[in-house]
Amino acid sequence: MEPNGHRSLDARIVAELREILGPGGIVDRATELKVYECDGWTIEKSAPEILLRPRTTAEVSAILKTLHRHEIAFVPRGAGTGLSGGCLPLGAPVMICTSRMNRILAIDLANRRAEVESGVVNLHVSNAVKAAGLFYAPDPSSQVACTIGGNIAENSGGPHTLKYGVTTNHVLGLELVLPDGEIAELGGPAEECCGYDLIGAIVGAEGTAGIVTRATLRLMREPEAHRTMLAIFADVNNATQAVSAIIAAGIIPGAIEMMDQLIIRAVEDAFHAGLPKDAGAVLIIEIDGLDAAMDEHARRVTELVRAAGAHEVRLARDENERATLWKARKRAFGAVGRLAPNYATHDGVVPRTRLPDILRAISAISARFDLQIGNVFHAGDGNIHPIVLYDERDPDQVRRAIEAGREILRACVEMGGSLTGEHGIGAEKMAEMPLIFSPDDLLVMSELRRVFDPAERSNPNKIIPAPGGCVEVVTPRRQVPI
Ligand SMILES: Cc1cc2nc3c(=O)[nH]c(=O)nc-3n(C[C@H](O)[C@H](O)[C@H](O)COP(=O)(O)OP(=O)(O)OC[C@H]3O[C@@H](n4cnc5c(N)ncnc54)[C@H](O)[C@@H]3O)c2cc1C
Repeated sequence: MEPNGHRSLDARIVAELREILGPGGIVDRATELKVYECDGWTIEKSAPEILLRPRTTAEVSAILKTLHRHEIAFVPRGAGTGLSGGCLPLGAPVMICTSRMNRILAIDLANRRAEVESGVVNLHVSNAVKAAGLFYAPDPSSQVACTIGGNIAENSGGPHTLKYGVTTNHVLGLELVLPDGEIAELGGPAEECCGYDLIGAIVGAEGTAGIVTRATLRLMREPEAHRTMLAIFADVNNATQAVSAIIAAGIIPGAIEMMDQLIIRAVEDAFHAGLPKDAGAVLIIEIDGLDAAMDEHARRVTELVRAAGAHEVRLARDENERATLWKARKRAFGAVGRLAPNYATHDGVVPRTRLPDILRAISAISARFDLQIGNVFHAGDGNIHPIVLYDERDPDQVRRAIEAGREILRACVEMGGSLTGEHGIGAEKMAEMPLIFSPDDLLVMSELRRVFDPAERSNPNKIIPAPGGCVEVVTPRRQVPI
């Protein structure tokens, strides 16, 4: 029996699963399973007892029927790029990975829709429709690896979701295999749907309602023109004030991203993108729309950022320079590996006008916990990503990194913000949920979840804290009292 009351795996059940999946469909060697012991939230680790790799919805359904019969809990996994421990198996011996369900099933250019399996990599959708002048708007910086299923589970955003909206705005239909193996269809290719918004309940459910196997996605037309600018500031305070100034002036750029000095230096040392290493902060601002309006909008944005204190504004002269800037931004997390053996990327939200305050608070938290913290984030959305650097070989640094992250989240909430903009609650932030939700709110969420998963066997011990319970994680061991 698992600690959460679900049953444990045995050889007979594994044999049944092997029968469904055939050779290559199961990973059960401890050395190979180690690869799956964490996602991008590497502070917590826990490998599954077995990994299943279905190829079709029918296989997912057969697996879930078997697990249902034996009362075994499971955790869905896409590419494992999550940053909140969402696919960490906690009391779930079975992990089900969708990476072999990676077919784009249909593209309907006339209606601007794509139907894809949930293991399709995000960027592959835009690549498949690029020649037709279309794209799939939610563009997480991890888009070269993360899957549509993971994006749906986390309601992922990205630099360009400031203007175009997050995943929930782009999912029209879903195929969901419920934890008892039944296959449900939600929504469809039509633009509007009546009744309760059940897709809205599944997008952002972090895998706690079953496994998404297929999705119908909205495609957007590529804007006619872009202007991409790098605004350079002596300090982060002015850079964050510039963000509010642009939006207050009635301009909604496609993206406004910020990097502070620690991140600029790491990115520049790693990728030589021409970023100014002596700057206190930079903003990457991209406006898009009709060609005829672009130069005027770029002039206006330049004026606004200069008035806020930018001492230089560089305009990307061609597609190459634009791509270099975006590559630098989207690879920023990778460059952080040069700064410390380990890092924890946090995700909080504040009202845009409170960005200067939260960055001051983060700087104070960094000093108090004696840990370096870099900032690279979706500034236009007020969605911060403080990156806490630490060395996991030093237990005290791990403890301080966790506590510093918690303090940052508490500061976001005190400033009228929220616990996550896009990375989800996962295992990381479950204990913080009562900061923004009352016991009644959490009960309603539990009840909604149980409509889809009455026995709570799909990704147990995530998002909603059990009253009086605790989360126990191995290596490094962490107890989170709730
Ligand atoms: C370098 C880097 C940059 C990032 N940038 C961004 C960013 O800009 N914006 C952003 O939003 N996120 C970003 N992320 C976080 C992450 O990439 C996203 O959360 C992404 O959506 C996770 O997708 P995945 O396929 O890796 O899912 P996983 O990490 O495998 O899983 C994430 C969650 O989804 C569930 N899940 C996965 N597949 C399914 C399915 N088919 N059905 C049901 N549940 C499922 C899992 O159980 C888990 O709870 C970044 C991560 C990295 C490492």
